[in-house]
Amino acid sequence: MTTFRAFQVSKRPPEAGEGRPTFARRIVERDVEALPPGEVLVDVAYSSLNYKDALSATGNPGVTRNFPHTPGIDAAGTVAESSVEAFSPGDQVIVIGFDLGMNTAGGFAQKIRVPAGWVVPLPTGLSLRESMILGTAGFTAALCVDKLQAVGGMVPASGPVLVTGATGGVGSVAVKLLAKLGYEVHTGTGKSGEHGYLRALGAAEVVDRETLLAGAERPLGRETWGGVVDTVGGQILANALKALRYGASAAACGLAASAELPAGVFPFILRHVNLLGVDSVELPLAQKAQIWNKLAGAWRLDDLAALATPLALDSLSDAIDRILAGRMVGRGLVDPNA
Ligand code: NDP
Repeated sequence: MTTFRAFQVSKRPPEAGEGRPTFARRIVERDVEALPPGEVLVDVAYSSLNYKDALSATGNPGVTRNFPHTPGIDAAGTVAESSVEAFSPGDQVIVIGFDLGMNTAGGFAQKIRVPAGWVVPLPTGLSLRESMILGTAGFTAALCVDKLQAVGGMVPASGPVLVTGATGGVGSVAVKLLAKLGYEVHTGTGKSGEHGYLRALGAAEVVDRETLLAGAERPLGRETWGGVVDTVGGQILANALKALRYGASAAACGLAASAELPAGVFPFILRHVNLLGVDSVELPLAQKAQIWNKLAGAWRLDDLAALATPLALDSLSDAIDRILAGRMVGRGLVDPNA
């Protein structure tokens, strides 16, 4: 019998008089045999901490319904066993999204077992560590930029690109990638102490969150943005739509502020702008591989380590609280073997 270490969240039902269940976090030893069925068993080298993992760890039923559970929507490592021809023991692979870490035991563990249809070969040019510094957040940042360019026609001459929630995981990678691609990047942040961090990533301007929230009552704003990568939703996204230049696009991928969109139709019918949806989870595997190949090739980012906060399994619980409070900066890189 082979065992491995995993971060586990368990659910305690509400006691009489309490309204809600509580969720406890601890490190456990698990049997490989207890992992869900799947064609590929992976020895996890790295995972990463995403906002969604924090939702899973706190029992958000839209993310995880079955407990005890190991979160971790990302994993990169080496194939230990495979029952399909496409993968052999020793292959280096990436798994992000689909059901990993939601209701399938996730990457905050030394091993995962998953369907082969979730597995992407690690592209040449990217290490396992780099792939998880990027993780779902970095992948999603790239997906936003890809869609803004491919569907929205965004080019550097379109004008400044706004990235909201800029110090977060998606935001940090979006800033770095857009700057590398020659865009003038303006960053929206609520962290007054992190302006230097954003400028080091390549931000030309830093805009306070309060400024992005102003003008909710106006149907349109001054034409400013040649594109928007929005990770927060709510009033900030609504205001960003109102300030898009004629014909420009916003990519909406997140809800760190709100799942609501208090917007009118004027930007669409008077400015010809586009709101583009971005989902990294169910994106077909072939398209996932294309984005990973870009991140390993033409879009490869130097000095990714500058974004990373290393986390061991036993430091995850504190980091989960930080990301829930919107206090995380950059990416949490999880080493389950540390
Ligand atoms: P992080 O927690 O790392 O970053 C979110 C950032 O949003 C924070 O750092 C903060 O940045 C800002 N923020 C937090 N709270 C508020 C608030 N109340 N109002 C305005 N801004 C706020 O999360 P990620 O970057 O990993 O994810 C960002 C969002 O994208 C999440 O909602 C996540 O669920 C979603 N997501 C969606 C994916 C998809 O496939 N569609 C994939 C990955 C993530 P600052 O202080 O700089 O403003």
